[in-house]
Amino acid sequence: MPDSVNVFEESRQASRRLLGQTIVKAMSAKGFIAEYVDTKEQAMDAVLRIIPEGASVGIPGSVTIREIGAFEKLRERGCAIFHHWDPSFTPEQRKQAWKDEASSDYFLTSSNGVTHDGMLVNIDGNGNRVGAMAWADNPIIYVVGVNKASRDIQSALDRIRDHATPPNALRLHVDTPCSKVGHCVDCDASTRVCRAVLILERPTMGRKTHVIIVGEDLGY
Ligand code: SF4
Repeated sequence: MPDSVNVFEESRQASRRLLGQTIVKAMSAKGFIAEYVDTKEQAMDAVLRIIPEGASVGIPGSVTIREIGAFEKLRERGCAIFHHWDPSFTPEQRKQAWKDEASSDYFLTSSNGVTHDGMLVNIDGNGNRVGAMAWADNPIIYVVGVNKASRDIQSALDRIRDHATPPNALRLHVDTPCSKVGHCVDCDASTRVCRAVLILERPTMGRKTHVIIVGEDLGY
């Protein structure tokens, strides 16, 4: 009799692969340069195939990019990394870091959500990340775990607000209502981090837009 735990895990992984491949097919048809990989290690390898040695890389706030070990691997190959997640930064230094991220040779990020039919959905508080996603003249690379897949745009927005924002607010010690109850209450708080929504139906005109869908849980 097969080991039931292995059977459960194998079927779960097979289902994730199917979903990831379905999304990649839809994204490719929309003009994204999309690929599917099973693991975060393979995702990092895919990133390193795109970013050449010595290139500068802008990395906005992203748990996923840190989880795949991008900082360590990119530094090993001599890449300069610009990012604003340095607690010692003054507000002015943080604003400069946002600009440096957007003007790097490559912009490496995740997406808050991806729909089954291949659209990227993001919500921002400051707008620096969605601004750079919407326009910059550098190639952009998204690394997205299948845990962020949703049926359509509305369910992607709901997932982001109900399941991604509360743990993110807790991680960043931002005093939002969702961080008290564990789900979105569509608040009107001054601390509200849901302020700017970007839906990428296609890559923006002329911009190389890579998407690596990963068959693992990454980020929130
Ligand atoms: S709208 Fe407010 S309560 Fe809802 S997820 Fe955003 S910050 Fe949290």
